[in-house]
Amino acid sequence: MAYDGPYSIDPLVASFLDRAPALFIDGGFVASDGTATIAVHDPSSGKVIAHVPDATPADVDKAVCSADTAFQDGRWRHMRPADRERILMRFAELVVERGEAFAQLETLEQGKGIAISRMFEVGASSEWMRFVAGMTTKITGRTFDTSLPGGPQHWTTYTRREPVGVVAGIAPWNFPMMIGLWKVMPALAAGCSVVLKPSEVTPLTALMLAEMAIQAGVPAGVFNVVTGFGAGAGTALTSHPKVAKISFTGSTATGKAIGRSAMDQMKRLTLELGGKNPAIVLKDADLAKVIPGLMAGGFLNGGQVCAAASRVYVEALLYDDLVGALSAAISGMSVGAGMDANAQVNPLVSAAQQAKVLSYLDDARSQGADLVTGAAVPDQGYFVSPTLVLNPAESLKLTREEVFGPVLGITKVASADEALQRANDSALGLGASLWTSNLDAAMNLTQRMEAGTIWVNAHVFIDPAMPFGGYKQSGIGRDFGVDWLEAYTETKSICISH
Ligand code: NAD
Repeated sequence: MAYDGPYSIDPLVASFLDRAPALFIDGGFVASDGTATIAVHDPSSGKVIAHVPDATPADVDKAVCSADTAFQDGRWRHMRPADRERILMRFAELVVERGEAFAQLETLEQGKGIAISRMFEVGASSEWMRFVAGMTTKITGRTFDTSLPGGPQHWTTYTRREPVGVVAGIAPWNFPMMIGLWKVMPALAAGCSVVLKPSEVTPLTALMLAEMAIQAGVPAGVFNVVTGFGAGAGTALTSHPKVAKISFTGSTATGKAIGRSAMDQMKRLTLELGGKNPAIVLKDADLAKVIPGLMAGGFLNGGQVCAAASRVYVEALLYDDLVGALSAAISGMSVGAGMDANAQVNPLVSAAQQAKVLSYLDDARSQGADLVTGAAVPDQGYFVSPTLVLNPAESLKLTREEVFGPVLGITKVASADEALQRANDSALGLGASLWTSNLDAAMNLTQRMEAGTIWVNAHVFIDPAMPFGGYKQSGIGRDFGVDWLEAYTETKSICISH
């Protein structure tokens, strides 16, 4: 449908929306088997900007079979690694060349600020793409001596790493393009085929990405996209017998459900799930670093970040200064649509997410919590004002559950030990930060904090070289790092007697 919003948009975005996005199967856009569609909304206005198919089980089967055929006939995995690497590098270049279109499409469907879309969804994503593309030529096994009868001179034993097969990538709505690429790229680098299901809330950039991959030279059938709801298309995909591995990023509840069903067919699994991430501020911390660090850590993308800071434990000496500075910062933020480059507070992704975040705040208010609300937000669109909750009681829902919105709890503590005990008192363990200028404290506490990533004097910085994933119920497995492709390959031992 034609875009009729108030912003002047890139012609590539306009033509993409005009073309009525369809499923992407076997190298091209195809109509769904069914008639049901899903409306995609602009979060700044609530207006519908596109419809995508709600894929039926037959559509999903078609996509998986296309991926499986491509895997079985070896059109991708048997290609010379150097050629695959070049194609994936070209894919990254095309994403950069179309960067403005990708950034705008992401902002239009997700709501985040255009500068964030440019910096993360396009800029950071392209760096991840090149990092992974380069791994295509560096997949290695090992040789080793065994103690089998006759001695090692009579045996040659080694391992090969082989692509696992068809990968189902399931992505959430907070960084749809970047997280979608975190599924697709390692799968392709390892020689797998992939079917990506983006969130029903933000399905558009995944479809544009698939088009780019084909233009870059990825063969038809190797990268497919199905759009649809989790309960329908998502379940059909993750339970499909021809899917060998599931790479899922999303909520802990959905991750558990997918994990249970994956076991029936012993599918390989990577789960990147929710967080309730603490930040410990010691009395010797430098507030000039803490304030901007927590503003970004807590409010980037409206707090819709899995590793966002959500629980701050600050030693008493700095409590008043920290609360004063953060209160001033949130009240001075400018508010507006993501397409408005000057707006710092942008809408949340959907009416449902807005209602969910507001319900946590209503619960807190009804229990007499002390709330500091930031800049006023408009009624139109899915806005929530950045909010501080001072010394939140344990009984509040927002104290223990992931809010996934612009809400930061700040608790005064008597000591570093109390901060540590409270920070670790969670079923989740994705990220955590420590703010201090005391090296001994940093060395001591980073070893005792329970999370997959610990930042010191920073929060929420990630990098392709740095493994990322969750302790406890924040997930299973790690993304990124030099070992990333292991999760997309099987180890085969070859044992030759001679
Ligand atoms: P969600 O779990 O509701 O949905 C994620 C995806 O799973 C969507 O594509 C959805 O359609 C699909 N899905 C839902 N039910 C399914 C099912 N039964 N079978 C198969 N697929 C199904 O999560 P969300 O609301 O889209 O995203 C927010 C959540 O994602 C937060 O909890 C956040 O912490 C988490 N997240 C984690 C990371 C990480 O790296 N750990 C990164 C980003 C987001």
